Amino acid sequence: MQVLRTIPITQKMMTLTLEKGKSVGFVPTMGALHDGHMSLVEASLSECDYTVVSIFVNPTQFLLGEDFSDYPRDLEADKLKLERAGVDYLFLPDEKEIYPDEEMIEFKLPESYAGIMCGKSRPGHFEGVAQVCAKLFNIIRPGKVYFGQKDYLQTLVIQKLIEDLNFGIEMRVLPTVREKGGLAMSSRNKYLTDEERVAAQVLYKALKAGDKSLIEAEPMVELEYFERNGDVLAVAAKVGGVRLVDCVRLGREK
Ligand code: AMP
Repeated sequence: MQVLRTIPITQKMMTLTLEKGKSVGFVPTMGALHDGHMSLVEASLSECDYTVVSIFVNPTQFLLGEDFSDYPRDLEADKLKLERAGVDYLFLPDEKEIYPDEEMIEFKLPESYAGIMCGKSRPGHFEGVAQVCAKLFNIIRPGKVYFGQKDYLQTLVIQKLIEDLNFGIEMRVLPTVREKGGLAMSSRNKYLTDEERVAAQVLYKALKAGDKSLIEAEPMVELEYFERNGDVLAVAAKVGGVRLVDCVRLGREK
């Protein structure tokens, strides 16, 4: 696996790849990789000639007071997992590489995205996600990108970004990988105590039952929202100060 740290070298490598007529799959991540991330990597490896994974904890998608500096980072373990899986390129830029200039053109989301779920409870978050993904897509120029269903509104925002900015990228959305007991895997889960991890299982139970009172009855869980959009029911909550999200497609989960 080749580790690419700068934009010019990454763009050069990607140009060579495209000139060879090879397809490129791209999995953007913030690292601290778990089996959920790896399911996206596996899908790209099986569908594309080359797979690029990025690890970048993007400051512009964290609000003031959120856990940017405490976000889990585990680079050596991540590299090992990606190397073993057979990933071709790891794009590993630092903050200055992605944001060399403090002044930047920013994104504004339509109200139908900004006004629901995490769009509403984390104002500015998806503007940061759209900004970094637009940059990453232009740097990597993939044919396919891979995202997890767990971050439901993110998948809608990225699909809209791809369409509105004519990226010509195919977006693949893959099912949520869960721990035993149903808790959706998340990099932030490692901050949960054993007790909190068990309490957090109520999120998936409540989604499947369509019943938010199950969460309200769990004293260790502080509910942020329990919201339906079309056939998707999504939840965000804090467990022991750790913010977790999950969602289900109604009528699809057993
Ligand atoms: P993150 O590193 O949290 O930004 O996530 C990178 C990608 O992995 C996003 O597309 C997430 O939706 C996806 N992802 C995170 N957790 C899971 C999971 N448990 N199952 C499937 N995909 C996931």
